[in-house]
Amino acid sequence: GVSLFPEHGASYDVLRQNADLAMYRAKSLGQGKICTYETAMDETSRRRAELAIDLKRALVRNEFELHYQVQNDTQSGDIIGFEALLRWNHPRKGRVPPNDFIPLAEQTGLIVDIGDWVLRTACATAASWSRPFKVAVNVAPMQLNYDLAKRVAEVLRETGLAPERLEIELTETGIIADRQHALQVVLALKALGVTVAMDDFGTGYSSLSTLQVFPFDKIKVDKSFIQSVETSVHAAAIVKATLLLGRSLNIPVLAEGVETEAELRCLRAEGCHEGQGYLFSRPRPNVDIVGLLQAQRDAADGSSSGNVMVA
Ligand code: C2E
Ligand code: MG
Ligand code: MG
Repeated sequence: GVSLFPEHGASYDVLRQNADLAMYRAKSLGQGKICTYETAMDETSRRRAELAIDLKRALVRNEFELHYQVQNDTQSGDIIGFEALLRWNHPRKGRVPPNDFIPLAEQTGLIVDIGDWVLRTACATAASWSRPFKVAVNVAPMQLNYDLAKRVAEVLRETGLAPERLEIELTETGIIADRQHALQVVLALKALGVTVAMDDFGTGYSSLSTLQVFPFDKIKVDKSFIQSVETSVHAAAIVKATLLLGRSLNIPVLAEGVETEAELRCLRAEGCHEGQGYLFSRPRPNVDIVGLLQAQRDAADGSSSGNVMVA
């Protein structure tokens, strides 16, 4: 991070503070990058600081909400479960996307309390559904250091959700900081009867060696591969190889981010049995899920087919 005298500050303190801002920008661009301070950086860091304050208040002010996205059997269209996805309804800014506030929640440590709220809410909601579908909950790396398995056991007891109805989603970045500890957490979760999925497969540093060590119950292929499955031979080859890997390791593979019929056809042809994406449904508030489950039940009562595809 570079700041120049005198245009970026007349005193040592201001120059150093501005060089720091430039350094954060450089770090965010990756290793070995150099950035020079610009006044716009003040604005960015001021906005981040404001957002961090708002984020801290968001839990007590009840501004979080969970939406649920359906996961489907790609052949029959049957529902196999739902993923809980966090939404923040900011009082002034409107809906802030998770990718904008989750990294901030992680940096400030707020993710531990927020993640706990997500876990409790998702389990309580799933326990209230009229049909016993699974619910998948994303867990941030930091939560692994806060006795996650013990917390999950408590929440399952409090909400009455059966352990086999909860799936914890971990990404590789959540694992690499301390693989040994992460493995202990995963084993403790599995001992409870909870399943554990590897999220965003293929985007990490060493997805293959992670699979060798961690006893995952599901592999979720990252949407970046699915979205180019038709147009890029490389993406198609990676999806195919992941499916083969899943088959030989006996781990189901779910394709994330399925948006088109053509992608679905490709996935079916390759023997991918599980999918999630806008083609099936966008993430929806719980009231819609309750309606969907009711419609499914009505259809099952009225005819022999109980399958309802969500638009
Ligand atoms: P993820 O866990 O990989 O979740 C899937 C993301 O893909 C969601 O984005 C979902 O809305 C989006 N998606 C689903 N289908 C499609 C599709 O067909 N096309 C496209 N383009 N996108 C699709 P969302 O809800 O914005 O969440 C982004 C990420 O934020 C999540 O990625 C997850 O890493 C994180 N996240 C969300 N909720 C939580 C949470 O409660 N706790 C933690 N720690 N992280 C969360
Ligand atoms: Mg996920
Ligand atoms: Mg994912």
